[in-house]
Amino acid sequence: MERIHQWEPEFPAFPYKPYSIQFDFMKALYEYLNKGGISMLESPTGTGKTLSIICGTLQWLADQRKKQNGEIQDGPDKTSPNEIQFNSDDEPDWMRKFVVSQDHRNQEKKNKIKEFGMGLGRHKKEGSKDNHQNSFSQEEEDHFVTREKKNMHTPNDSLEMDDQEFLVEDYESDDEVALSSGKSKRKVSGVSNSSSSDDEEEQEESNKEKLKVYFCSRTHSQLSQFIRELRKTVFASELNVICLGSRKIFCINEEVLKLGSASHINEQCLELQKKKTTETSKAKKLAGAGKMSRTKASSGCPMLRNPKLQKNFRSQISQREALDIEDLIHLGRKVGTCPYYGSRSLVQGADLIVLPYQSLLSKSSRESLGLVLKNSIVIIDEAHNLADSLISMHDSKVSYSQLENVHHHMERYFERFCSLLGPGNRRYIQTLIIVTRALLKLLHIEEASYVEPCQNDSTGKNGALDYSMAINDFLFSLNIDNINFVKLLQYIKESNIMHKVSGYGERTIKPRNDLGIKPSGECYEKESTLSSFRALADMLLSLINFDGDGKMIISKNRPTGLGERGGCIKFVKLRGDKIFSEVVDQAHAVVLAGGTLQPIEETRERLFPWLPPSQLNFFSCSHIVPPESILPMAVSSGPSGQLFDFSYNRRSSSAIVKELGLLLCNIVTVVPEGIVVFFSSFDYEEQVYGLWKTSGILDRIMKKKRIFREPRKNTDVESVLKEYKENIDALSKKDPKQNILSTSGAVLFAVVGGKISEGINLSDGMGRCIVMVGLPYPSPSDIELMERVKHIENLGNSNSIKSSKFYNDVPSGDVETGLEILRSCKRGKEYYENLCMKAVNQSIGRAIRHINDYAAILLVDVRYTSNSSKRSFSHPADKLPKWIKDCLIASTENYGEVHRRLNQFFKVNRKMGR
Ligand code: SF4
Repeated sequence: MERIHQWEPEFPAFPYKPYSIQFDFMKALYEYLNKGGISMLESPTGTGKTLSIICGTLQWLADQRKKQNGEIQDGPDKTSPNEIQFNSDDEPDWMRKFVVSQDHRNQEKKNKIKEFGMGLGRHKKEGSKDNHQNSFSQEEEDHFVTREKKNMHTPNDSLEMDDQEFLVEDYESDDEVALSSGKSKRKVSGVSNSSSSDDEEEQEESNKEKLKVYFCSRTHSQLSQFIRELRKTVFASELNVICLGSRKIFCINEEVLKLGSASHINEQCLELQKKKTTETSKAKKLAGAGKMSRTKASSGCPMLRNPKLQKNFRSQISQREALDIEDLIHLGRKVGTCPYYGSRSLVQGADLIVLPYQSLLSKSSRESLGLVLKNSIVIIDEAHNLADSLISMHDSKVSYSQLENVHHHMERYFERFCSLLGPGNRRYIQTLIIVTRALLKLLHIEEASYVEPCQNDSTGKNGALDYSMAINDFLFSLNIDNINFVKLLQYIKESNIMHKVSGYGERTIKPRNDLGIKPSGECYEKESTLSSFRALADMLLSLINFDGDGKMIISKNRPTGLGERGGCIKFVKLRGDKIFSEVVDQAHAVVLAGGTLQPIEETRERLFPWLPPSQLNFFSCSHIVPPESILPMAVSSGPSGQLFDFSYNRRSSSAIVKELGLLLCNIVTVVPEGIVVFFSSFDYEEQVYGLWKTSGILDRIMKKKRIFREPRKNTDVESVLKEYKENIDALSKKDPKQNILSTSGAVLFAVVGGKISEGINLSDGMGRCIVMVGLPYPSPSDIELMERVKHIENLGNSNSIKSSKFYNDVPSGDVETGLEILRSCKRGKEYYENLCMKAVNQSIGRAIRHINDYAAILLVDVRYTSNSSKRSFSHPADKLPKWIKDCLIASTENYGEVHRRLNQFFKVNRKMGR
């Protein structure tokens, strides 16, 4: 019998001596990566989770590379501590296959790749750079060139030159070539135009098969934080690392950036690329050769015009250690080339790709970025809401005004070009007009039946003009069930009809009027025809989902607030497992990481129901801070004995709002530095702030601490936080002898689900006390949410769908119907409660970010308190992270006890010199 070493991985790249929980985390991660499949690892924020992910994963990658390069000799006496010896039976199939396929190239690769101490090689040779060079231009340009080439063969002398460019090319749906995807066309074209040598092709193939790590998180700031942590390790200089992001973040063309919104920037950038290829085609036509070198093509965007600058950009990246988004933008500006396309072109040769969720989890994004997940490692951080984030990426929405816009322009286009269009084009354009008209008719409301919604209607009733439908019912009711939407979408994609119609529309409505006037006299930017068309195309794409995969939400009575009546149709995706399986099937290992990932079972059922619970790799560790550094308390009543009940119907009571104010007036006297108060919504925060202002409570608080408020606009948050922090920092610079803590510091009013609750680090003085006001349940009047509740209630129980008691309760956007649905559900209600507690946990988890940090957490609502003997399984306190739950003071006799404990807590921590 073959001897197997009792081997333990080591993590020399970890920049400090790891705490035991950090070591355990890395070890578990390493083992799960060996094993493959799906793993979930949770470690509270502030425990060095990111660094543990980096060192665990990249050490594993380093060891695999050594093995592939033949540095690890099989045989018991030759292994170093960090070199895994796989028993041949233990070696995963994928790895054996992977190694075999690499063997014949190993010798050649060894000569090509510069080796580093950890066994990781950066591909710095010219060949690999050349390989990067044309990744974008090849794909995008060829696509447009193919299109424009066709246009050139469709001359029509009866058209004026100006109109001719808007005539859509001939299209035949039965032509299988025409129906094949644009991707395959681009592929063929790419090969014929390619000037790459055999070596380069081989290198490209090698890059495709190269074991890669994809790290994704939700926000750009989280990705930058990841790079900052990566730079603390040797991996930052030993690996090829590239960050990807949106055009809105990366664009350096000031003219385009000025447009502001992401969709406008995307559109304008693509429009510029289109102009580039049009110019290229014209040049080709003039040359008569049709083989013009790509590198001589002029770009519509000046930031892509010079291929030498793009090459310089790539070369500089390959010579530096890992760059974050800011660095890439800076470099792009310095070199004078687009960092968005520059970073995209480096994907193939990268070892580690750092990117937002959306780019990895959406199939179309993966394809357009050229991401190959086969045999790769996918790490998804901040995965606490992954199931909901994943499905919401696939929602779509089209408004009444967008439909009107498309319909108007399609009709005008058809009128103008009808006699010149071939039968294929005529048929599809007419079909598009019919579908658009049917959708408009659905949203149309007769003047007589229009109900002005009541803004302050506490019941949430809205005239029952919102309702949901199954996809098939929707299609039947509009009489469009006989339309082949797959072919229609192919037509939209292949024919370039969106650009033709919107381009013609813009040309004929000159001067273009992008600004509308609100009733208030304010200007607002109107939606472009192209983005309206895109919204319609997204909606059509949603209609090809299976009946049970999502629901249609029809909202007739949704005023836009812009002086026109609105209404919209929305598709809500309900199932995420199919989308997620595309990632899992390809990758060798998928890791979900987060501060808290509970409830695990709900995530498993929604994202990978095929995996038996026993086969799910799960690791959880506690916090590194000692129990005396945290004081979580449930607060049931205020200083004057008033019970705190912030349920929807009670929270506006002036007695409760006043009592909350008194509570704050008291705690500002004992809590040093910063206090962050979380409210359930901006509206509620505004209401409370107004009442405290008139009652003089704000003045009382301000005698002790300055007050800051989270602004609604995300872009304004940074400046408020800066001032809040400066206020606290100034305090720590004071002479300690003069520093009377109870008379200084600041209070920040924030909102659950707002920017501060989701991604801001409230360490040390920034958050010495977190006050959570009430339980931030989402509104039961939210139709989409109620559809998700119903879906989750029926997970794994398809037979009972129609017979369920609540099935006939179609959500109609009012609170009562929503509550009725919740009362009828068990699992669905659990999901609803989990949503609330996940939001609470995110907010209170902002405090305590390192081992010497300390903070009090006040959960202000009688529903948090409990007599442990009466606890039901779904009590809110049970859904707190374990490290908080274990220390929770779940009931206090009165506010006096809360005050005394707070006083004691801060005294002890001050004495300990923290
Ligand atoms: S190519 Fe780059 S710089 Fe130019 S518009 Fe597009 S994103 Fe902006």
